Amino acid sequence: MNYKALAERLLPGDYPELSAYETQYPPRDLPKGAEVTRLAPSPTGFIHLGNLFVAIANERIAHRSGGIMYLRIEDTDLKRKVEGAVEAVKNALRYFDIKFDEGAEIGGDDTYGPWYQRERAEIYRAFVKHLIGEGRAYPCFCTEEELTALREEQTAKKEITGYYGKYAKCRNLSEEEVYRNLDAGKPFVIRLKSMGDPANKIKFHDEIKGDITVTENDQDVVILKSDGIPTYHFAHAIDDHFMRTTLVIRGEEWLASLPIHLELFDALGFQRPRYGHNCSLMKQDGETRRKLSKRKDPELSLEFYRKEGYFARAVKVYMLTLLNSNFEEWYLKNPDAPLEEFKFSASKMSKSGTLFDLDKLNDISKNELSKLSAEEMSAFLKGWAEEYGSDAQRGYFGDEEKMLRVLTLCMGIGGKKRRKDFMTASQAMKFISIFFERTPREDDYRVDRETKNAVIGGFLGAYDPSDDAQAWFAKVKQVAEANGFAAEMKEYKANPENYKGSVADVAEILRIAATGRANTPDLWTIMQILGEEETRARLKDAAKA
Ligand code: GLU
Repeated sequence: MNYKALAERLLPGDYPELSAYETQYPPRDLPKGAEVTRLAPSPTGFIHLGNLFVAIANERIAHRSGGIMYLRIEDTDLKRKVEGAVEAVKNALRYFDIKFDEGAEIGGDDTYGPWYQRERAEIYRAFVKHLIGEGRAYPCFCTEEELTALREEQTAKKEITGYYGKYAKCRNLSEEEVYRNLDAGKPFVIRLKSMGDPANKIKFHDEIKGDITVTENDQDVVILKSDGIPTYHFAHAIDDHFMRTTLVIRGEEWLASLPIHLELFDALGFQRPRYGHNCSLMKQDGETRRKLSKRKDPELSLEFYRKEGYFARAVKVYMLTLLNSNFEEWYLKNPDAPLEEFKFSASKMSKSGTLFDLDKLNDISKNELSKLSAEEMSAFLKGWAEEYGSDAQRGYFGDEEKMLRVLTLCMGIGGKKRRKDFMTASQAMKFISIFFERTPREDDYRVDRETKNAVIGGFLGAYDPSDDAQAWFAKVKQVAEANGFAAEMKEYKANPENYKGSVADVAEILRIAATGRANTPDLWTIMQILGEEETRARLKDAAKA
């Protein structure tokens, strides 16, 4: 077979000399040890926790080593492409403060672009043409139906499925047959002519999993589809070579394709990058552990965290806790340090499935939010409300001073112990809603209607907004006594049968009357923030019901 002539027939025209690409994309001028890493999402519109997981690892490794992290968009599969997906990727990663140096829509040095694979068609084709010319790739004319039939035959025989060895029909077509098919205008794909043998095992060092053994590839994988666009495998080899990636941290679902990639790098004469395959995020589901699933687990989507209003640092802290076994200890010692100071390393990453637990994240979130000042909290909530909140919620920020007083109270700022009631922006906004709106009552009174109204009436008669906390409480005690409740806890505990309840029960009635809730921060302060008019109006309303 005249391979050069075949290459010309399949991919006609002049392509640059391959060495020209080496010159165009020279090795990067970086200090020794600097890693070049990347995130390479497909624009499917669904950006998920797994993407963030590897993004954080890649970003930390690149930047800790003085290297580069870039964003490449793997858009070779048009069927999966969704409008606006790249924006969604960018927004999500910006929210979590993943810093790219270069890449799609990032700006920065463009030497190694374009960053969208569809814009790189010429490079891929030039190399495919080269491989055909060398006899390392060939056209395959098999139809979908033939491939399906092949798969069924292999499955029935309990053999490995795919296009390989004796099953690689088009690999052995004669020159005449090939040209006859081409002359007939039959569509074709280009396949790699694999030289591998599954009897051979390759020892491989994975930066995360350590020393592993993989089986040599013998699949004649498609490298160029019939539309002239490469497959993921081929584009990966070309791009990671010419973008000068040194380390590929990616999800472990790609481990199965690793032998293909190793063969491709070798066939192309490229030095391989190092690889680290990151464990999957698992979820405890009853007795079993399973991978987080798009269909069953809303928390897999990064959009979930933004809609709920998770504080980005909290998510990052949790991800780092899962990613590096020594992070938690470091963080306990350095709770306020910039996360960048942690010495992240690929070798400390989990080798097998990591359990993702939303409750754990929620605890971390409460803790992180309890470190904010009222101003920081206000800015965080406002940012969330602007994007995801209701008009009423955006209105909460109309009176900045009131907002700060509310937050100071609700977060226990200045008190003996900071409160940890806030978990996410959406939940915090609901928590503080009682200060800004008359919300429906959430908790029931634990006394009869008559007692409730007598207590509220008694308090309204004595209420003076200029009372300090002590004077205010003295009045609550008076109301207690006047209505058959013990003014002192001690008295109540000694002889509970003599009372309807204690002063605590009276305070609860007033609390529910003013806020609709049985549990709130300090009620005197709440009344101070609400102001006299609103407090009176709410209590009067409550007494009517
Ligand atoms: N486009 C692939 C994905 O979205 C990237 C895999 C890789 O990082 O090499 O999963």
